[in-house]
Parts: sequence; structure tokens; C-alpha cells
Amino acid sequence: MANKQALDILIIGGGPIGMACALEAKKKELSYVIIEKGCLVNSLYNYPVNMTFFSTSERLEIGGVPFVSNNSKPTRNEALEYYRRVAIAADLTIHLFEKVEKISKEHDVFEVTTSLKKYLAKNIIIATGFYDIPFLLNVPGENLPKVTHYYKDPHFYAFQKVLVIGANNSAVDAALETWRKGAEVTMVIRNEEIGKRVKYWVRPDIINRIQEGSIKAHFNSTVTAIREKEVDIQTPDGIITIENDWVIATTGYQPNLSFLERIGIELSNDQVRKPVYSNDTHETNVKGIYLAGVICGGMDTHSLFIENSREHATKILEHISKQE
Ligand code: FAD
Repeated sequence: MANKQALDILIIGGGPIGMACALEAKKKELSYVIIEKGCLVNSLYNYPVNMTFFSTSERLEIGGVPFVSNNSKPTRNEALEYYRRVAIAADLTIHLFEKVEKISKEHDVFEVTTSLKKYLAKNIIIATGFYDIPFLLNVPGENLPKVTHYYKDPHFYAFQKVLVIGANNSAVDAALETWRKGAEVTMVIRNEEIGKRVKYWVRPDIINRIQEGSIKAHFNSTVTAIREKEVDIQTPDGIITIENDWVIATTGYQPNLSFLERIGIELSNDQVRKPVYSNDTHETNVKGIYLAGVICGGMDTHSLFIENSREHATKILEHISKQE
């Protein structure tokens, strides 16, 4: 196929940053499409239903579109509403429930194979986030249906024996919410304290609930086996077995770095496995492929979030538009 049939840009990922890139592409009058494997802002959709952002709403804005929320820190529902309205108002071209599976390059054009068809594009922006692959516990019983790595809603757990693994924001929210809906909650925490990154207005709440004994917590401990009606926990005093109905394993998520490696993007040799890209343009070592959003941090998924990666869109589009 000839070059003129190729899109200027194919954006992989319809999260906030992929959308920000599309808005910038529109401003520059470049042709683009967003390919998203799930629903619009799929990661945010999969967050717990009662979740509140730690950022204030204006810091989650993209493309200069105002984000008005009831309180200074918006809820998940308000964020879904906001990004949906932005997509409608800007009439973004976005193909949902279509997964990018393969990218190859012939001459100066990329051929992108999705679960549905093939596209040609002169440039690619990868904005695939970090929420698709949970860190596994790698213990027997992890595959049982009672184990989830994605906590959604507390009501389900009312009057049940719930084990929450982890000590950061997702774990703490799950423990407090399910306990408040009548669950009997035990936390298993690898370190000696609740995570320092836990939202400052939530951390005292969980610490007090643990101190008063409402929520049980085993610090310096790990789960070693999960069975239908019980779990084994390695504690500093030896292995204990407790009764259990459900396990919420909120142990963090990792980006799909093997996808980047498969298309030739180099990663640093250390534990962070940071992709190689220019700080000024966000172009990777593969000419014409750019990275945007939280994927830029490699395994360091906590240094970049919406509020400090929105600017990637302007840098990338500035660079691409100069070449067109
Ligand atoms: P994502 O939003 O993850 O979007 C990536 C998209 O790519 C997804 O929709 C995914 O389905 C899609 N995708 C992946 N692979 C493919 C493929 N092969 N083909 C097609 N599509 C694909 N950040 C803040 O700034 N403030 C906050 O208050 C905040 N609170 C948070 C609370 C929680 C519980 C969590 C988990 C995160 C929070 N974050 C917050 C982080 C923030 O949500 C992420 O940094 C943000 O979503 C990153 O945006 P992104 O567009 O880079 O990635």
C-alpha cells in the first residue's frame, strides 16, 4: 500500500494520556486513530467503584478542557464522566474493544495488526499504562475463583472472612471499605508498616482500625497457600492457618514491557527496565515510535501518573508535526 494511505499517527491505549495525544493530534490537524482493547479509559473503569483520586480535578484535565467535580478530589465516576465528555466534545476517533497485537515496519511505514484488522501508520504512540498485569503471589491456590487482583465493590464481601494482601492505597481502601460493610478483615503485609504512599487522609484511619483490633494485620508476613476455606500465612512467629472466604490480592501491577521489547524498544538493564526514549521528544530508539504516560517509567510505576504525564502529549505532537 502507498504511504498516503497511512495514518499520521496510531495511538495505542485509550486512557487519559492516549486521549491527550489524540487531542493534540487534532490541534495539529494530523490524522490519527486510538486503538483501545477495552472500554474508554479502561484502567479507570476497572478501579474500585468508590475510589477517590489523590489528585485534584484540575490536575486530571486534558487538552485544556475544564474538569468540574463536586469536591476538590474527584471520584472514579466523575472521572469517567469527564473523559467520556471530552471524547464526545472533541469527536475523538477511537476504536474500542480492539487489541493491538503486532507491529512491524516496512520502509518508513508501520503495519499494525489488531485483533480485528491491519492499519498503516507513519508514527505510533504507545500509551498502554501499567494496569493490565498484576504482580502474582506465585503460591498454591492463587488460581482459585475466590482470589482477585482487582478489588471492585465492598457489598459483595459483607459478613465474609476477607484476606487483603498488600499495604498500599488499593489494599487499604479494600480493607476499610469491606470492613465497614461488615466483613471480617485480615491484612497480610510484607513490610513492617502501612505504605507511606497511602493517601494522607486515609492512612490514620487504617492505622487506628488496626490498633483498636477492628481489622487484624500481620506485618512482616506473606501468604504461602490458599485453599477453599482457609489460608496459610508465614508470620514472624511461624506459619498460621486462618479461616477464609475471599482473598483480595492488591499487590500492584506492572506494564507490559515484553510488548515493547518485541517491537525493538530497548529497556535499561537495571530493575527499573526503563524504556529508552528522548526526554525532549519521547521518541524511542525505534524511529517513529513514541511512548506516553505511565509506561515511560518502566517498572517504576509510581513516579508518573496522569497529572505529570499529560505534558508528554504536547512534546510528542510538537515533534511529529515538525516532521510532517
Ligand atoms: P492507562 O490509563 O492505564 O491507559 C492505558 C490504556 O491502554 C488502557 O485503557 C488499556 O486497556 C490500553 N491498552 C493496553 N494494552 C493495549 C493494547 N495492546 N491494545 C490496545 N489497548 C491497550 N493518577 C493521578 O494522576 N492521580 C490520581 O489520583 C490517581 N489515582 C489512582 C488510583 C488508583 C487506584 C490507581 C490504580 C491509579 C491511580 N492513578 C492516579 C494513576 C493513573 O490512573 C495512571 O497513571 C493513568 O491511568 C495513566 O494513564 P495512561 O493513559 O498512561 O494509562
